[in-house]
Amino acid sequence: MDMKDVLDGVWSDVSAHLGEGKVADYIPALAKVDPSKFGMAVMTVDGELFTMGDAEEPFSIQSVSKVFTLTLALGRVGEAIWKRVGREPSGTPFNSIVQLEHEHGIPRNPFINAGAIVVADTLLSGHEPRETLGEILSFMRHIAGDDSLTIDREVARSEQQTGFRNAALANYMFSFSNIHNPVEKTLGVYFHQCALALNCVQLATAGLFLANRGRLVSGHTVVSSERARRINALMLTCGHYDASGDFAFRVGLPGKSGVGGGILAIAPGKAAMAVWSPGLNANGNSATGTRALESFARRTGWSIFG
Ligand code: GLU
Repeated sequence: MDMKDVLDGVWSDVSAHLGEGKVADYIPALAKVDPSKFGMAVMTVDGELFTMGDAEEPFSIQSVSKVFTLTLALGRVGEAIWKRVGREPSGTPFNSIVQLEHEHGIPRNPFINAGAIVVADTLLSGHEPRETLGEILSFMRHIAGDDSLTIDREVARSEQQTGFRNAALANYMFSFSNIHNPVEKTLGVYFHQCALALNCVQLATAGLFLANRGRLVSGHTVVSSERARRINALMLTCGHYDASGDFAFRVGLPGKSGVGGGILAIAPGKAAMAVWSPGLNANGNSATGTRALESFARRTGWSIFG
């Protein structure tokens, strides 16, 4: 298969759809992003890189960060994390609070906001927010193989000033004793992890361990192959909020989206793909990014469903 031909084909499928969807404007700093941007990077398990469009322009990875903080939290507390967060699809929007009351403050999964706030709280315990963010940043730099990667403070501040729903989720879970640190500190970690700025090349490189049985291209082990498999299972079932089923149906690969318009998708044993297109569909997932991955999966035949 000639990957360049595949990407040319993807481009012909998406070029008429650039700028579709609506840029997230509930975080003011994200509302300024040009909706016509589009980038894609494919990093294979053999270390070959293919790119297209704005693949080297950094964007706010937002909820894609939840995959990486979950990886760190599993390393820190292991299976104990599943006492504080579930692993079932929620069928509700990313910032929903309704299930939390019925389920006694235990979020459905680590990829909805409530679940990711619990994961951030796990990483914060025993540390100051600055140290936890330092740990997250060095992990990201390590797996992306790029020390220049940073957190966009303006985006973090912008979300801190407007994150009333996330504050409600965190306070509510605190009342069930499922947040162990002061709420402002836990939210501070969460907002800053969401504000990590990566480009498609860095994101595909950072996600490669999930396609490569837990290993980086260098062969260095990040997690066991069993853990990589389980994180992929969660991405498939929960990675796109209440559109996770639709993403599995259209693309057929584990994926995690963010409201910055990025999506990380994993073809186990083959490659990690990152796409970025800021316009979102009604479920808060990149409209053209999903279209690109649908085209990519069809052209490569890389669905996990055969
Ligand atoms: N920082 C965003 C929020 O908490 C993340 C949501 C997303 O990317 O889906 O609202």
